[in-house]
Amino acid sequence: MRDKQKEEEVFTNKSTIYGPVKSWRLGMSLGVDPIFQTSTCSFNCFYCQLGQIQDITDRIKTYVPTERVLKDYENLLKEKPQIDVITFSGSGEPTLAENIDEMIAGMRKLTPHIPQYILTNATELYLPQVREKILDLDTIIVKIDASNEETFQRINRPAPGVTLKRVLEGIKALKKEYKGKIEIQSMFMPLNHKDIDDYIGIIKEISPLVIQLNTPKRPYPSEWHRENRGNHAKIFDYKVTDLKTLTPPQAQELEDKIRKETGLEVLSIYR
Ligand code: SF4
Repeated sequence: MRDKQKEEEVFTNKSTIYGPVKSWRLGMSLGVDPIFQTSTCSFNCFYCQLGQIQDITDRIKTYVPTERVLKDYENLLKEKPQIDVITFSGSGEPTLAENIDEMIAGMRKLTPHIPQYILTNATELYLPQVREKILDLDTIIVKIDASNEETFQRINRPAPGVTLKRVLEGIKALKKEYKGKIEIQSMFMPLNHKDIDDYIGIIKEISPLVIQLNTPKRPYPSEWHRENRGNHAKIFDYKVTDLKTLTPPQAQELEDKIRKETGLEVLSIYR
């Protein structure tokens, strides 16, 4: 049974489109992988579900031809799956794909009724041309795990030259130009839990629509496995490391404090 499940998982992942996978808050989310060939990201987060990132870079280029992604999407649509949202994410940072705007437009043309989301680490949003490429998305979910440069380096382990300052400036610039919804997704663990007051200060400045609190419940794989894109099932036959998470009472306390001090909507993976 386990082997069959794993085979199906790998089969699904041989495309630049994967899933749909059940997201704890988005429903059936269809993943789009604009990176695909290897894991490539401007971060190398120590909790990344993809494992150790193979190419840690902030180089923007075409990683997969747009035609390939749209073809994979059209093929999947023939199976008539339930899709509540499309999420650009995949094998790394999706805004590193120079042609992401073409993918957004092409998929919009094929299925104008399906909302499009992106999960981004926001490292490239300081560039006006990158912000412009994603303005047509319905929701942009940005990652903020740290509230100072030292913790940023320890958790997100970015490519050379990438700083928290650059990330926050990019998000603020996006906020001025973008008409859709901005959400913040944060991974909390003992390492950044203590910085909560500074984190709340940052959140207040950005004032997102929603804050999603997460904790690294999935173990960290030692190496990249494409099938881990959006994989919420526990099918691990390779070396993984369990990570330190917040306990449910700690997460509850955090959630309550953020909600009370910001007045914003806060969602937690523990609820
Ligand atoms: S930003 Fe996302 S894809 Fe990149 S290393 Fe962090 S968790 Fe992995």
